[in-house]
Amino acid sequence: MPIPHVELHAHLNGCVRTSTLLELLPRGEEVAGDQNHIGRRPARTLSDCFLFFSRVHSCVKTFEHIRRIALEAIQDFAASGAVHVELRTTPKNLNDTCNKRAYVRAVLEGMQEGMQAASQRLWCRLVLSVNRADTLDEALDTVQIADEFRRSTRGFVVGVELSGNPLIAGAWERLKPAFDEARQRDLRVTLHCAEVDEQVTSGEAIDMVRWRPDRLGHCVRTDTAFEAQLLMSQIPVEICLSSNMTTEAAEKLPNGDVASDHIFRLLNDAQSPVCICTDDPSLFDVTGPSEMQLAQRSFSLDPKHDFARLLRNAAAAAFFAPDDDDDAAAMRAELERRL
Ligand code: IMP
Repeated sequence: MPIPHVELHAHLNGCVRTSTLLELLPRGEEVAGDQNHIGRRPARTLSDCFLFFSRVHSCVKTFEHIRRIALEAIQDFAASGAVHVELRTTPKNLNDTCNKRAYVRAVLEGMQEGMQAASQRLWCRLVLSVNRADTLDEALDTVQIADEFRRSTRGFVVGVELSGNPLIAGAWERLKPAFDEARQRDLRVTLHCAEVDEQVTSGEAIDMVRWRPDRLGHCVRTDTAFEAQLLMSQIPVEICLSSNMTTEAAEKLPNGDVASDHIFRLLNDAQSPVCICTDDPSLFDVTGPSEMQLAQRSFSLDPKHDFARLLRNAAAAAFFAPDDDDDAAAMRAELERRL
């Protein structure tokens, strides 16, 4: 039986297939693919990753491009055994006819087509991303769009998150009012947290935990005070091991495993609600099951009991609207059937 997967942390434009990207590149640029960080996978550094995204964003220009990328992302997760997939993306004004709302509609069309075509039962939800580079007005606009779509899709768009270049200082303090607003409107919230040391030393990471989002992403750079606060909070943490090694937030051993002092070990040993995610499967050349196997090798996990616990953690932390209990229960029952 293949390992099932529950994906809670995947950025849409980090899922785009290389073959699709090469097709979308302007004519003549294919040859220069490597220099433009398109063909250069897996990425090697944090700045490699952000160069990759700026290249992707420069060639993803239409409603149809976005619909296709969302469809292919869901097809790829379904093919690697996903039971549930939460995608996240920042709504963008792509052109005169594809504004932010049309962008979200394109993602939803692609996701729903992928879900319907899946050969096994598959649940999907969409989270809209606020970028750390956004102004407060832009962040509030994303919250407004998420709220509108939450209503019109009856909970398929389920929340908002904060991501983007972690080296942009002060973003949480500046954008927090948008997340207060999201919470007021009953949207679920997850925050990228402690990806670089500066987020810990500045106090941002601990402040995020104290704000009590529904989930946190990464939490990979720590100090004693942050670790203690995180453990006490019992907030579910989305762990992305390959991503952390690539961006050098975590040590990569010569055999390719993650060094065992990764925050995963502490959280997992304490039975905190931690789960394994992919972040940017195309960029890092990973799948849900390959990340689970990496965790198994790196932390000597038991492939039966530990995997089942991690997947149940993810299923329990998956975002569903408050009136969506039946779907949440059906997804969890399907996971149990596949375990
Ligand atoms: P998009 O929102 O669908 O365009 O997905 C790409 C975006 O996700 C990037 O531009 C980043 O803002 C964000 N992203 C992807 N991976 C990471 C990460 O590891 N840390 C922070 N942000 C990320």
